[in-house]
Amino acid sequence: MAQPHAVVVGGGLGGLAAALALQRVGWAVTVCERAPGLEPAEIALALAPNALRALDTLGIGADLRAHSAQQGIAAIRRRDGRWILRVSAERTRERFGDPVCVVRRGELCRLLLERLPAEAVRTAATATAIEPGDTRRPARVVTGAGEHTADLVVLADGARSALRHELFLEHPGAVYAGFACWSAIVPRPERAMAFGESWGRGGAAGVLPLSGGEAYCFATGNTPAGGRSTDEHAELARRVEGWHDPLPRLVAAARPESVVRTDVWHIDTPLPAYHKGRVALVGDTAHAMTPNLGQGAGQAVEDAVVLAHHVSGSVAYVPTALQSYTAARLPRTSTLVQRSAQLAEAVQSESPLAARVRDLAAAAVGAAAPGVLARYTRPVDDWRPPAAARRG
Ligand SMILES: Cc1cc2nc3c(=O)[nH]c(=O)nc-3n(C[C@H](O)[C@H](O)[C@H](O)COP(=O)(O)OP(=O)(O)OC[C@H]3O[C@@H](n4cnc5c(N)ncnc54)[C@H](O)[C@@H]3O)c2cc1C
Repeated sequence: MAQPHAVVVGGGLGGLAAALALQRVGWAVTVCERAPGLEPAEIALALAPNALRALDTLGIGADLRAHSAQQGIAAIRRRDGRWILRVSAERTRERFGDPVCVVRRGELCRLLLERLPAEAVRTAATATAIEPGDTRRPARVVTGAGEHTADLVVLADGARSALRHELFLEHPGAVYAGFACWSAIVPRPERAMAFGESWGRGGAAGVLPLSGGEAYCFATGNTPAGGRSTDEHAELARRVEGWHDPLPRLVAAARPESVVRTDVWHIDTPLPAYHKGRVALVGDTAHAMTPNLGQGAGQAVEDAVVLAHHVSGSVAYVPTALQSYTAARLPRTSTLVQRSAQLAEAVQSESPLAARVRDLAAAAVGAAAPGVLARYTRPVDDWRPPAAARRG
């Protein structure tokens, strides 16, 4: 029997994870990426225990842990530095088997890429059209660098996918969440530092650990979509002015050209399905969410593992297998998109009263009833890959 072939549109985290997951169950893969290279703007990703289990299934969990720094599942302060809620890395490991691992996005992409054959990844290959195919006909993808037919197409072209609309004409697409995030990777002056996120009025700021003596600083702010400042470093510094130590100090030490500004888009109306014909949607294309839960990348990797599990059988029945993929992924990820949006609304609120109520509620959860927090996070962090995928 001929080896089944998948074309993956988009070489971000979701696309590369799907390519590796499919390769591991015997598929040949071709990844078509629009950009001329595979070096996305450098941000750090916090990967929760569920994401680490998915990465274990792809065979890169151990390397990922070795290249990351560890963090607890929640570490939240006020703008003045007083703690609201704190769960340590050790406590997180006790509960879920792993802490949260923080890694550069580029490092995670590298670990995925080095397990794929070089000829599998085509850069400067923008997909411009897609035909979903069905049980009798293959799917087809048109790119600026040629056409491909495929037994399966993985659409992983991100939150603002241009091709998703061809499959779901009625769907409104991604919407701007009303805020942007400024971030930079900076040298870490002290080894021992309190890491986490701090909530203010109209936004959050934070510092996360990275391996190799670095840290990741960020701040969010309400602003119109598409805005650009001539000096994003000054913009980030302005956003953390008056916040607790070490935020202003770390931001001041950032290289101005290293500051990344990202508008936050999410899919607040769930798609009717994560597949059409022989096309499967993964990652932000399917369920872009605000970064507040730190789950976007984790869910993309879960998608990859579950997709490969469902299509590992007959090629003829890929459209049927994709129904099972949708059934496994849509309810879980839609809940997370919604929860993340609710948290974003609370964190980005400009109202002093709303901010006070939010902080008191979070502190009460942390102090009086840690079980409440565990009940909230357990269904997310306790996710397990399908049993057969774990054995693969
Ligand atoms: C500020 C911020 C902080 C975050 N922090 C976290 C975190 O701590 N933890 C976490 O789990 N998640 C986090 N996330 C979310 C995470 O970054 C995303 O969910 C994840 O990177 C999505 O990957 P993706 O591959 O689905 O999409 P993308 O990364 O958007 O990749 C899409 C790829 O498709 C390519 N492409 C687009 N159109 C075409 C086309 N027509 N043809 C070919 N290629 C195309 C693009 O060039 C791109 O390479 C954060 C997000 C933001 C914005």
